Amino acid sequence: MGLVIDHARGSHLHTADGRSYVDFISGIAVSSLGHAHPEVVAAVQQQAAAHMHVMVYGEYIQKPQSRFAALLTEQLPKKLSRVYLVNSGTEANEGALKLAKKYTGRHEFLSFHHSYHGDTHGSLSVTGRDVYRKPYEPLLPGITFAEFNDDAALSFVSKSTAAVILEPIQGEGGIKPARQDWLQNLRKRCDETGTLLIFDEIQSGFGRIGSLFAFDHYGVQPDILTMAKAMGGGMPMGGFAASDEIFEVFKYDPPLNHVTTFGGHPVSAAAAHAALNVLIRDGWMERASVIEQTARELLQSDGIREVRGKGAMLGIQLHSQKQTQHTVESCLEKGIILGWTLHSDTLIRIAPPLTIDQTILEETLATISEEAESAAR
Ligand code: PMP
Repeated sequence: MGLVIDHARGSHLHTADGRSYVDFISGIAVSSLGHAHPEVVAAVQQQAAAHMHVMVYGEYIQKPQSRFAALLTEQLPKKLSRVYLVNSGTEANEGALKLAKKYTGRHEFLSFHHSYHGDTHGSLSVTGRDVYRKPYEPLLPGITFAEFNDDAALSFVSKSTAAVILEPIQGEGGIKPARQDWLQNLRKRCDETGTLLIFDEIQSGFGRIGSLFAFDHYGVQPDILTMAKAMGGGMPMGGFAASDEIFEVFKYDPPLNHVTTFGGHPVSAAAAHAALNVLIRDGWMERASVIEQTARELLQSDGIREVRGKGAMLGIQLHSQKQTQHTVESCLEKGIILGWTLHSDTLIRIAPPLTIDQTILEETLATISEEAESAAR
């Protein structure tokens, strides 16, 4: 897009040449509270002034980390009572894969076509698109890919499978929600075989779909939950949560199983604490269903084939690659930033800040609808 960003506030990006844009993608599901939320900014400033990096993660007791971990795990079920903080989504998934291997003593994984789990070697190994994996092969051995939402996937889970990893709502794969009964059956199959279930909620987490995590909405609990993106309120932060029992295996052999110098950086942890506090206290998660409802009402035109997804994690399915490109370009000219997905070129992704003003939301959706219709002609 070539936009030179000068500053960002609330739902808007402001460029160096004085233009304003509605950020309808939130830096890809990051700025859920809008840009520069005053409480997040204050937390960052205070913590930066108190102390920044002091030691490799885990050596000292750093209050911002423990305060945030306490607030987060209070919201999670007992089987996700411990959280390990890292710097990004892909690192969270690396940690989850290693934890599952160590805990089960197995090395095979089941993943799904069209999934996206990150770009480091382990996460890339379980990412379900050949074009991204091929140039870096050989990757991790023992990975099987099945069709998302397909009952046949259950038969691939065996007593050799360390874990099944999936996004409850596939993001890069085109905003595809899992079927609830399918997730329930997968959970059952994992229990039968002693396989861990990993939910990658890096995109769907922290209120984006209307509950803190998608697993709350589905009523199916994972053994390991990975998170990032909106977690840090705009600062780099990732994490993976599991039970005390599972995490025990990270304590020995080797002594530092997943050490990271900057993981749980105090400034990021302070920002994450402020962001989670605001998200819960001010009820922003409830906005997600209003956003979905408004989008479903206003995105009705001949130019749009389907609106899918949940809450404020939505995909607008158009008719062709050309129409999609024209719609994105003409919306940009009108001051609207839309998203794309890595695995689909006929889908527009929208993930507005949960804090977006209702009038701006409606105006933006109306413009998208008009532009999609005119680009279809
Ligand atoms: N998993 C999912 C579901 C994602 O959407 C992403 C980022 N698009 C990642 C993992 C990787 O996260 P990061 O870019 O922070 O490494």
